Parts: sequence; C-alpha cells; structure tokens
Amino acid sequence: MNAITTHPALPPVSVSADSFRPPLVSLRGLAKNYGIYQAVYPLDLEFGEGEFLAILGPSGCGKTTLLKMLGGFIEPSEGRIVIGGTDVTRHPPEKRPTNMVFQGYGLFPHMTIRQNVGYGLRIAGKPKAEVDARVADMLALVQMEPFADKLPPELSGGQQQRIALARALIMRPKVLLLDEPFAALDLKLRQAMQEELRRLHSEIGGTFVFVTHDQAEAMSLATKIVVMSRGRVEQVGTAEDVYLRPKTHFVSTFVGEANFLKAERKLARVSIESAFSFDDPGADGTVLVGVRPEKVRLGPAAAGCDHRFTGTVLQRVFLGAQVQYTVRLTNGETFLACRPSGELSPGDAVEIGWMAGDQWVVTQ
Ligand code: ATP
Repeated sequence: MNAITTHPALPPVSVSADSFRPPLVSLRGLAKNYGIYQAVYPLDLEFGEGEFLAILGPSGCGKTTLLKMLGGFIEPSEGRIVIGGTDVTRHPPEKRPTNMVFQGYGLFPHMTIRQNVGYGLRIAGKPKAEVDARVADMLALVQMEPFADKLPPELSGGQQQRIALARALIMRPKVLLLDEPFAALDLKLRQAMQEELRRLHSEIGGTFVFVTHDQAEAMSLATKIVVMSRGRVEQVGTAEDVYLRPKTHFVSTFVGEANFLKAERKLARVSIESAFSFDDPGADGTVLVGVRPEKVRLGPAAAGCDHRFTGTVLQRVFLGAQVQYTVRLTNGETFLACRPSGELSPGDAVEIGWMAGDQWVVTQ
C-alpha cells in the first residue's frame, strides 16, 4: 500500500504537455488522499485545446482518481483545477465545461437511444426543436441513426459505447473525459472503436482525456501521454518521448520491453565495466543504461555499433513479423534482441551492439 508514511511528499512534478498553445487546462498541486492513503500525490499539469491526452498506468496508480477530479466527481484534497481561465476546483460536475463517459457507459436502460442522447439537453431546458436537431446530428456523427428508437439493452457493447460518446459530446464539452472507454470490448471491436474515437476527435476538434492501462492504446491514440505509477506522474510526453526517451525505470518497462545494463556515473560520465563510457549529466552513483530490443543489432550488423558486447544465443523465438533472440552476455547479463529475420541458433557465439543515440539512462 502506497501510504504517506512510506512515500514522503515530493515537490510537485512540473510538466507542460504543450508549451506553445496557452493551456486550456491547468492543474496546480492537485492531490487526493483517503486518510493516510495517498491516491494521487501533488502534481502540476497543463494541456492545451485540441489535445488528445492519455493517462496511462497500471491498476490502482490513481488514473481514475485524477480523471474524476477533473470532472468534479472526486473532491481534491489539495490543489487547483483551472479550465479555460476559470477556477473550477469546487464546482460540481454540471457546472464544469467537462463531460465524462464512465466505464460501463451508464446509459438509461428504459430510455430509447434518442432519449438517452438528448437527456442532458432536455435537463438543461433546451427547446424541443434544438434537442431534436442536435440529437439527429450526434446520431449521424456516431453512425447510429438506424438505432434511434431502440433501447440500450438491444445494442451491442460497441454500439452502446458510441451512444455514450454521443450523449457526452452533445453537451459540447470543452473537455471530454473517458474512463477506460474500451475496457469491456473484445480486441477487434476495441480497435474499431479506437479508430472511431480518432475520427471523432479530428472531426470535432475538442480536447479529449482518456484513461487506459494499455500502452499500445495510449500510443496509438494520444497526442500526449501522462504516465502514472503509484499516485505519481512519472513522465509526460509524446509516444516517441515515453518510448524512446523514458525518464524513469518504471516508464522504460511499462511502455515496452527494455534491456538494462548496470553502470556507474561519476562526474557526469557513465561507464560500464570499462567496456564503454559516455557523457550523461546527473548525480554520481549506480545507474542503468537501457536499450530497446529492436535497437540491438546482432552478428555482422553489430560491427558498426557504438557499443558492443559478445555473448551466446540462449533462445531463438519466431514471432511472425520478427525473430526474438535471448543472448547471454559474457558478463552474465541477459539481453533481448528483436530482428526482422535471422538464422542464429542457440549456442552460437554472437556479437551484439547498439548505437549511442538508442540508449537512455535511468536510476533504479
Ligand atoms: P484501475 O485501472 O484499476 O481503475 P486506477 O489507476 O484508475 O486503477 P484509482 O481508481 O484512481 O486507480 O485508485 C487509486 C487508488 O486509490 C487505488 O489504490 C484505490 O484502491 C484507492 N481508492 C480509490 N477510491 C478510494 C476510496 N473511495 N477510498 C479509499 N481508497 C480509494
């Protein structure tokens, strides 16, 4: 358990998801604790209009808590939420320029699809003609017009998801919040709905924030990814940033496979067993040099690499699009290498290598 007593409060993480556009949403020192349990540590985060933001992390890391604080469904213990220049920290959900699609969709089972989609506008007292016209537009947008007079239980999971999106989007929120929107769907439907969400985002042009524990989903949809672990923001960046330039050990392993070699940093120079060294600013001490398996070259291809080791092939696994090798290095460490093809066999002596630009340094 991630209690305050075992995780002393750190200074807030200061991250900007977009330094060029003025931020639409600005979170300052936002935190949530339940008694001594710190679900979200104080964080600062800004993101701009039109952003498609993914909050990514394992179960229990605080993603939903952060999303619900944005939507007004959970009251923060500390900090402020400013949206479009207005401090909405103490505003209830209906007074915020946000709308949330919950896991499980939350459709009213006894109302038709048309009534479900128009519900928010009716409650807001909009004239019938406007409600009808906007419902028709929304049903067209999510390609669900033929289902307008059906009830939610008569629809498939993917169709209900589309209706939940339409019901949220009809309110024209400045920020659409989506909590694990595709969690209940099978893989094919999930992929189709991801495509649908991408289309909706580009057609409507609003700001979307979605929670997911699926790194592939975050990388394929999001313009910016907020990676969380144990209540803290570990990194904010594009898919390329978090995959190719992870800032922490957690991010390195959560967003993909990573090889690590233990190294020592002294006076801003990192060295591995006198095999190689390179400049890297930071505190003195033990660090880890990381490299992705697909960046590792094998055999003759390793000859031109900046950093090279020798080893023995332990295992060769054919994965269709690529071949994955496990190599035991002469220093005893195990390395994964993924190549588009290759004919090496277990027991073969092999040289491995990678380019300096493909590595990163983290502390454990
Ligand atoms: P998941 O992907 O499983 O939904 P999550 O990252 O969204 O996880 P949260 O739902 O934000 O996680 O929960 C963060 C932590 O806060 C969890 O450990 C959870 O048990 C705890 N938590 C959430 N709500 C409460 C509550 N009302 N009282 C006490 N602890 C809570």
